Amino acid sequence: MNADHSQNSRRGTFKLLSGYIYGDKALLSRATLFLLLATAADVLGPFLGKVFIDDYLMPRNFDTQALVLLLGCYLLTQVAAAWLRYKQTMHFTTMALNAVQDIRQRAFRHVLNLPMAYFDHARIGQLVSRITNDTEAIKDLYVQFLSVVMSNLILLIGILVAMALLDLQLMLASALLIPTVVGVIYLYEKFSGPAVQHSRHLRSEINANVSESIAGMSVLQATNQQQRFVEQFDSINDDYYRARIRTIKVSAFLLRPAIDLLSVLILVAIIWIFGLQVTAGVAEVGVLYAFLNYLGRFTEPLAEITQRFNLYQQAMVAGDRVHTLIEESEQHYRDTQAQVTQGHLSVDQLDFAYQANKPVLQNISFELNPGELYAVVGHTGSGKSTLLSLLLNFYPAPPGSIRLDNQPLDDFSHDNLRQGIGLIPQEPFIVAGSIRDNIDMGRDLPEAELLRAASQAHLSDTLAQLPEGLETQLGEGGTRLSTGQRQQLVIARALAASPQILLLDEATANVDSETEQVIQRALKELHGQVTMIIVAHRLSTIKHADQILVLSHGQIEERGTHGQLMAEEDGLYRSMYQLQQQAKRVEMLS
Ligand code: ATP
Ligand code: MG
Repeated sequence: MNADHSQNSRRGTFKLLSGYIYGDKALLSRATLFLLLATAADVLGPFLGKVFIDDYLMPRNFDTQALVLLLGCYLLTQVAAAWLRYKQTMHFTTMALNAVQDIRQRAFRHVLNLPMAYFDHARIGQLVSRITNDTEAIKDLYVQFLSVVMSNLILLIGILVAMALLDLQLMLASALLIPTVVGVIYLYEKFSGPAVQHSRHLRSEINANVSESIAGMSVLQATNQQQRFVEQFDSINDDYYRARIRTIKVSAFLLRPAIDLLSVLILVAIIWIFGLQVTAGVAEVGVLYAFLNYLGRFTEPLAEITQRFNLYQQAMVAGDRVHTLIEESEQHYRDTQAQVTQGHLSVDQLDFAYQANKPVLQNISFELNPGELYAVVGHTGSGKSTLLSLLLNFYPAPPGSIRLDNQPLDDFSHDNLRQGIGLIPQEPFIVAGSIRDNIDMGRDLPEAELLRAASQAHLSDTLAQLPEGLETQLGEGGTRLSTGQRQQLVIARALAASPQILLLDEATANVDSETEQVIQRALKELHGQVTMIIVAHRLSTIKHADQILVLSHGQIEERGTHGQLMAEEDGLYRSMYQLQQQAKRVEMLS
């Protein structure tokens, strides 16, 4: 990271965080008021002590009424200080928790609206760590840093004023501590910044590693990779340990011990000056008492402030990470009323590449009338899934190259597009919840719609066998259902919204031929009602398509009906089909 970038993002982070600090002005002013009052009550204590020693104890003037008054005042200030500190902490904590809640919500909402392209290179664990740990660290900025540093700074000023009122010379000697502390903080910032950043990065690396291993547990255990993953994890964990030790070394050396040492030196100076005053005959014992008392309180805030810089550093780095995430540009959809009503789809000279100079799709053109069924076939990596992603606007296609109902794809709002086009992806995605939740997906569809969709997907028999029917709870990933049933569930989900267009990416790749036939039947019934694009490897399943597009290296190599394509002597489709038929015969013979 270069200096310029880190400067910029610092400023952005600052803006993000200060926005929250000033966000609730009423709360902030109340918190500050309690802070000021608490400090005043705190500072008053030793002052009253000094009055007692110099005006009553030393001259042996024991005026009961005055003493009771003095004692009462002292007790009152101490009780008030405790209560005010409590109020102050509560207010700052509320502010902090509000801010964290808001930042976390904002980050999560933002992540949900990021373009699919972002997730091609994102690591899930790192994202999780940004949304959970890093936002939590920001809380420290408010509770620990802001509240503690602010109250200590004010306490410091209060004490300096009180000291100046008591004895200017002694006050100046004590004030010497301040520039030294500023120097220490500067050194700390300089040494610990990069170390803290590195350690937070490693921490999210740990999260990413854990979540990836758990997500891929079956593969990991099947391929006996446990040892390798353990080693990899150990090595990151060790790095993290070393990075933490490094940050702790810097803070352990610079923060507390440095301040403690300095304060002892100042103490020596004060006693020395006081000694000179005694020999000159101008010393007051009460002043010494108050000074020693103040000095104890004086070094405390300084030490606290320096120590909190550790948290400040952590919070700033965390804020930086959250800020970078929030700054990622979102996928923008137009806020228009355009709706998919017919299911007419046209693609005109579509070119697309994920990375510059690596074209994935080239010059793709085709047109589907409402209710037509097209099949897209081709070798692995020929760009079939990519084509479907573009139709869903997951990735931006060149403007105007895709039109729905004669309107450019960009004209549809996110909701209307999702309503009009249903996707049945290559990997069925099941959320933890009931079957009802999984079909409904938060759309609050009427029960009749859900049951209709389930029956269209030929899921009714399965539902009838489950004692709890629609309410059957599925774990994360839907492991209670077979792969074929999961696929049917996802089909029901897509159908529940009555989409005009349905995109299927290898919906029957992972199911046995019996289930495949069930799914095929479901799809055949939709033929003519819903515009469909089916990506398929098994060519026997798409013989009835109105048109078959054969993709090869991102280009449409051939197109036509099954009959037309089979009539092509050297056709790619024909050879693929024959190869599959042969394989089937061999399978049957063996
Ligand atoms: P399969 O039959 O195996 O599902 P496919 O025809 O669906 O293959 P695509 O997933 O569309 O193939 O991929 C087409 C090409 O684009 C491949 O070369 C792939 O490496 C590349 N590709 C796919 N997704 C991405 C991505 N998110 N970022 C970069 N390249 C990608
Ligand atoms: Mg694919």
